Amino acid sequence: MALMQVADAQALVLQHTQRLAVETVGLSPAVLGRVLAEDIASDIDSPPFDKSMVDGFALRSEDAAEGIDTFRIIEEIMAGQVAKQPVGLGEAASIMTGAPLPLGGDAVVMHEHTKFNTHQMRLMHPVKARQNIMARASEMMLGETVLSAGSLLCPQELGLLATVGRTSVQIYRTPRVAILSTGDEIIEPGQPLASGQIRNSNASLLMALVTRSKAIPNYLGIAHDTLESLRPLISTGLQSDVMLITGGVSAGKVDLVPDVLAEAGVKAIFHKVALKPGKPLYFGTLGNTLVFGLPGNPVSGLVGFELFVRPALRKLMGRCEPFVSPTMKARSGNDFSHKSDRPTYYPVQLRTTNEGWVVHPVNWKGSGDLRSICTADGFAVLPPGEVRYSAGDFMDVLVPEFDHWS
Ligand code: AMP
Ligand code: MG
Repeated sequence: MALMQVADAQALVLQHTQRLAVETVGLSPAVLGRVLAEDIASDIDSPPFDKSMVDGFALRSEDAAEGIDTFRIIEEIMAGQVAKQPVGLGEAASIMTGAPLPLGGDAVVMHEHTKFNTHQMRLMHPVKARQNIMARASEMMLGETVLSAGSLLCPQELGLLATVGRTSVQIYRTPRVAILSTGDEIIEPGQPLASGQIRNSNASLLMALVTRSKAIPNYLGIAHDTLESLRPLISTGLQSDVMLITGGVSAGKVDLVPDVLAEAGVKAIFHKVALKPGKPLYFGTLGNTLVFGLPGNPVSGLVGFELFVRPALRKLMGRCEPFVSPTMKARSGNDFSHKSDRPTYYPVQLRTTNEGWVVHPVNWKGSGDLRSICTADGFAVLPPGEVRYSAGDFMDVLVPEFDHWS
């Protein structure tokens, strides 16, 4: 049977992913990266009045147009105050940034464009009507929708919510993600390493990826490659929104994970994707719980997470499309060739130059080589077959964390 293509597998994952429930939370930086579940309407005109954008003098622009160049200063308006009197012919009010424009005034001249003492001011520059004024309601009008459901909460959204007086909002619940490592050979860091044993890289890697995705990891430990060990841990994990299992999904003798999942009622949606690294990737569902079986090699797990788990988390959390991280075109910095029967996600460094982004493939030893990934910024997406790039040729690059504001 032909292997499933990455895009088809991603579409299947998203088809089986439903947005989580909504909760009301108080606003604080802790909600960064969460997603609004309601439209937000402004409760004010902003600015609430015609506002001076500089420290200077408010006056009637027609006076300047008619050739008046010296104005009598009638009062001083600080931010937070309102003018006591209108500005009349040949008059100016000293005004500070953020203060409301006095009646009659239709332009503000900045201090630097005048000569002045306490009583009078002389214009040194031409004046245009409405200059240095932010008009009432020019940012937003009372009742206007300023943020829509689905908006990602970044610093600027938190500032805007404060502008419209919100102290709490409705947002989507945070996904809870169970993480289970499997393998008789796997031991935790900190334990003595006997011959034949491998330290558990995946749990730390996945907990960090889940945390960075603004979801909550729940680490369940290491299961042995036995039914007795896998069953209870898998049944605990299936109570989460998402379960990530590493190892035990290939075709080896003790790759029991798909069988135990089937026994627990999980419906297999696909198992194996045309992808390198990470071909034996499993995806199934139990009710609304999403189950990902990631191959044991850490880089396979990382690529599987970026391609399938991260998009699902984005959708669960209420994000808008695109759920799948986009690829971008960037020029290869080296001559580079590669051969594989499957599309390959090849770790690369990205560097900014005067000609834009430039890609340098890292010296990568394959799916078990996590060390070289520490020097990478993304993955070049190489088509199957034999590919050759000369320096300067375009490559497609997957940039995992493109939503960096949050
Ligand atoms: P598996 O998918 O179980 O066949 O494992 C594939 C390879 O990944 C084997 O070499 C495992 O030793 C290795 N591996 C499995 N789980 C982990 C883990 N948690 N941390 C690091 N390497 C692992
Ligand atoms: Mg294994």
